[in-house]
Amino acid sequence: MSRNVAITAEMLHKWDKRHVWHPFTQMQDWERDKQIVIEKGEGCWLIDTDGNRYLDGVASMWTNVHGHCRRELNDALKAQVDRLEHSTLLGLGSEQSIILAARLAEITPHGLDRFFYSDNGSTAMEVAVKMAYQYNVHKGRPEKSRFVTFSNAYHGDTLGAVSIGGIDIYHTTFKPLMFETFQAPAPYCYRCELGCSKDSCGFNCVNALQKIMEEHCNSIAALVIEPLLQGAGGMIVQPAGFLKRIRELCDRYEILMIADEVATGFGRTGEMFACNHEDVIPDIMALSKGIAAGYLPLAVTVTTDKIYSAFMGEYSELKTFFHGHTFTGNPLACAVGLRSLELFEEDNLLEELKHKIVRLSDRLNDVALLKHIGDIRQCGMAAGIELVENREARTEYPWEQKIGIKVCLEARRRGLFLRPLGNTIVIFPPLVISDSELDFLLDVVEESICLVTE
Ligand SMILES: *Cc1c(COP(=O)(O)O)cnc(C)c1O
Repeated sequence: MSRNVAITAEMLHKWDKRHVWHPFTQMQDWERDKQIVIEKGEGCWLIDTDGNRYLDGVASMWTNVHGHCRRELNDALKAQVDRLEHSTLLGLGSEQSIILAARLAEITPHGLDRFFYSDNGSTAMEVAVKMAYQYNVHKGRPEKSRFVTFSNAYHGDTLGAVSIGGIDIYHTTFKPLMFETFQAPAPYCYRCELGCSKDSCGFNCVNALQKIMEEHCNSIAALVIEPLLQGAGGMIVQPAGFLKRIRELCDRYEILMIADEVATGFGRTGEMFACNHEDVIPDIMALSKGIAAGYLPLAVTVTTDKIYSAFMGEYSELKTFFHGHTFTGNPLACAVGLRSLELFEEDNLLEELKHKIVRLSDRLNDVALLKHIGDIRQCGMAAGIELVENREARTEYPWEQKIGIKVCLEARRRGLFLRPLGNTIVIFPPLVISDSELDFLLDVVEESICLVTE
């Protein structure tokens, strides 16, 4: 290809279908249908090669916080690229990664002061799993090598992350490659695995978890949880008090608690971190999606001095944490992450979110009246609308009917980009979304659901 030929929209569309294999996508459908190619971003909006505008209803895979091409963040990135684009953390410190760790230490739950960088949510969880196990080795408990996980959990797509996940359709194929875990029932109250009904269940799922812990605590290194909200599992919100109970059980049975805040971190739930809602301090916490405001891949696994210090020893003792990724602590990503934290303050973002969360909730109450709505779940600025064929019987739409996909296609025609999780419509906009944009989003969601399900 000659460099000076102007690249047209038509060429982009053709080459995309010819060369790019999209994630979580049936490429047969992709190649057959007309697709959108995004060229520009502006605030909460994405603009395609034909100039069409779409409200970014899923914050570009749950990463965007302050909007697209936000001037302050662009400036921070531009300034950093003229100082240093990348330098390794293997054997060297680098300015931005140090400042970011120090700033994050001020806002993460008390005692989480040690930051291990990587570059995506899955690797942040791999690090957490290996760290928890090796900690137990160093403590003379190598038999504590197993993990407690939850049904419906999602922690990423690398093999370790898949092993601790619990979403059958993503994970079954890879079963032969995975390690086994103890899986506890997650509180999906609308479709309780244990057949209980909300409010009168007495936290039976917690009892089931406790039984596992009691029986196997001597072989368990850690429990892994998405605090408050199981994201990819269908935006499933845990009942109040659940997380606190988990923390208590972990303490009682000497099991480390790993909180996967990859989706919930950085304001999504209305607090900086989901754990803050219940004053829970995990032993290890994974952060990624919102950390660099949706600009660049960055992740960090955070832990306590207690765990960190167990890795101290003479060089020859081999207590070192033998793990690391090439682009660990990338200065560009860290510089944007730092500026993003400042914007939280400058925009008074967490305070501003309060009324937006109420507005979202009010509007969802209207949507709930539609005939084919089974369950609506909201946690801060994240929500899931579960569509059902029959409301009384809670009958699921058959998978082949692609009901979620159809609703999202209708929304797209109206200028809103959404991506469903099965039959659940996901709402997860950039946190800076304005009131009128939020209204537009919900108008379109309501209209699209009506059209497809009537
Ligand atoms: C997205 C996500 C991950 C995986 O992050 P990637 O950057 O896609 O690897 C892990 N945990 C949770 C809770 C997530 O939502």
